[in-house]
Amino acid sequence: MNRASSETLTVAERTTEVLCPVCGHRNQSFASNHHHCRDCGSIWHPARRSFQYSADYPVERGHRQNAVVASKQRTLESWLTATNTEIVGRQVLEVGFGGGATLDWMHRHGAHVFGLEPIAANRLAAQAMGITASNIGADMAAFAGRNFDLALYLDSFEHIPDAQRHLNALNQATRAGSRAILVLPVADSLSRRLLRGWWPHDIEDHWIFYSTSGLDALWRAFGWRLVQTFSPSKCLTLQTIAAHWRMKTGMTVPLGPFANSAVWLNFGERGLVFERS
Ligand SMILES: [Zn+2]
Repeated sequence: MNRASSETLTVAERTTEVLCPVCGHRNQSFASNHHHCRDCGSIWHPARRSFQYSADYPVERGHRQNAVVASKQRTLESWLTATNTEIVGRQVLEVGFGGGATLDWMHRHGAHVFGLEPIAANRLAAQAMGITASNIGADMAAFAGRNFDLALYLDSFEHIPDAQRHLNALNQATRAGSRAILVLPVADSLSRRLLRGWWPHDIEDHWIFYSTSGLDALWRAFGWRLVQTFSPSKCLTLQTIAAHWRMKTGMTVPLGPFANSAVWLNFGERGLVFERS
């Protein structure tokens, strides 16, 4: 079966007992292309788990355009304020830094920044911004023995294929009192329940939609407690919204002079702050 051309679950995938990758329970329902855990509410698409990112990913998504970079930086600043998070002088790891807009901003605002990013072109771009090469890694093994104050997952945790393995490695690079901030689209959001397959986050590189309670249980199992949730409004340019629409529908929206206009909105995402016990 060619997984690139079809997301439909095979009969074997529908009938084999599968454990929820978040809470580990077996109680779930099946739709044409995904599983839905009845215990924790998380949703996952098995065929998307092996999605391969191309080196063009950040450019395709417009992640390096000036207006997009500026809006990502304004957005992060607002979330750091909302979570009362200080970065000056702190050891900060950004997991999945992509185009590097937020890594660069934290670097220029006094944080000791480290970045994990699987795409080689993105790692090189971060070096070109002045981030120390040895602070950039392709996987968590690069950071074993570090002692991060803060780990950031800005729309990245839901891209990690094996969260348990990742959290094990994170615990080798943090200490009691370290914090993690996650922003991600969640299965228990109103917009997901209303829009279902038309939900804009339901795209090929999102293999899992965690529920808030599923995330709480998962991180708790690794010694982290949920200390805050927040509504992570984003400063989005119209061209970013149009790029997601194009990913979802194949339709291009002509924006003309409005491409760099920005709006603040939250569409089905949750912000969570965890602290390691
Ligand atoms: Zn579950």
